[in-house]
Amino acid sequence: MAYSYEAPVSQSLFDRASVVTPGGVNSPVRAFRAVGGTPRFMVSGTGPYLTDADGREYVDLVCSWGPMILGHSHPEVIAAVQEAVSRGTSFGTPGEGEVALAEEIVARIEPVEQVRLVSSGTEATMSAIRLARGFTGRAKVVKFAGCYHGHVDALLAAAGSGVATFGLPDTPGVTGATAGDTVVLPYNDLDAVRAAFAAHPGEIACVITEASPGNMGVVPPADGFNAGLKELCAANGALYISDEVMTGFRTSKAGWYGVDGVRPDLMTFGKVMGGGFPAAAFGGRGDVMAHLAPAGPVYQAGTLSGNPVATAAGLAQLRLLDDAAYAKIDAVSAELRSLVGEALTKEGVAHTVSAASNMFSVFFTDQPVRDYDDAKKQGVFRFTAFFHSMLEQGVYLPPSAFESWFVSTAHDERAIERIAAALPAAARAASEATA
Ligand code: PLP
Repeated sequence: MAYSYEAPVSQSLFDRASVVTPGGVNSPVRAFRAVGGTPRFMVSGTGPYLTDADGREYVDLVCSWGPMILGHSHPEVIAAVQEAVSRGTSFGTPGEGEVALAEEIVARIEPVEQVRLVSSGTEATMSAIRLARGFTGRAKVVKFAGCYHGHVDALLAAAGSGVATFGLPDTPGVTGATAGDTVVLPYNDLDAVRAAFAAHPGEIACVITEASPGNMGVVPPADGFNAGLKELCAANGALYISDEVMTGFRTSKAGWYGVDGVRPDLMTFGKVMGGGFPAAAFGGRGDVMAHLAPAGPVYQAGTLSGNPVATAAGLAQLRLLDDAAYAKIDAVSAELRSLVGEALTKEGVAHTVSAASNMFSVFFTDQPVRDYDDAKKQGVFRFTAFFHSMLEQGVYLPPSAFESWFVSTAHDERAIERIAAALPAAARAASEATA
């Protein structure tokens, strides 16, 4: 595909990066390999906008893959960070900020009786699984195809996100022994879960699922799916782990738990709760969390866990996320979904705008998408054309057809108008694209 626009400064930075960093990036999807072209090196962000190294401005619909729910450089978050930094950046001791952040999480999310702070979503899911195995004394973990839980060895089987983008069925470096304890099932299929419990009696430590998946595109749980998982886990002595790294503090004040009310044994969080800094967490039932060191025998630790700058940013962000903020995000999401749908319909492009609360993505198919296999049947080539047209017109979408789009409270009418103005040409490009 030829691109009619250029990004010479980003290109020269990417050339430099490719010498010293594998693939030129520090997280694979950023490299644009799924869509081609030059990844944009961003230099600043304000509200709903990002500015790249070539001086171009974009309306940002990635929001750092979820964290920037108040937009970029929110003055109150920046002030909290500056205040924290002025007192020092890391102490390696307990501090009040981490207590306050833990209290905020516990207050918002009723099933979380205790919480442990870590630095990334990957660490959160890895630790939650270790804890589930330690608590139950069992080895096997059930996960669903298309759900991404970070790059935890045991969970990199049929994962979504970057793994979906690159179509890697398995990852070299994950041993057969590690993957052998992972049971991968089709999403939204309770019969498959029932069959797995029957096939492995007394062996399954936990079922981990994205609370509402956003890493194969947005594929919400079917009615009763999460409740069914919870029930099957309880009946079989396994823990139900809801991964809310993406949905947490985004899909409602209490994340996806606030939407479906299904009470997990353990939950994982990241993204929004760090306010743009590396902070994440796992938590849940008090009797399970009591198994964690130093209270219990399951080891888990981190030099930068509960970092004072990260916790200050996260706390400032969470405190600004009140009912009005969620109402705003929901409204922006609804408006964009209808604008995108109208533009694609007008050009006769087969599509489904799939939403879970305010998270959404577009599948270039008119067939229902209930699992990862359905998601993979979409016309990815149409997304590629759509993506590049939007990029050229100054709208930054996730550079993959298998990712959620994210909005923020900062997406105002002007930002939405800019997106609306770009959609007709992008829909036309999608309609004219060839495989
Ligand atoms: N779990 C889910 C649902 C995610 O979406 C992600 C990241 O996208 C992770 C876990 C891993 O988080 P991190 O990238 O912070 O390690």
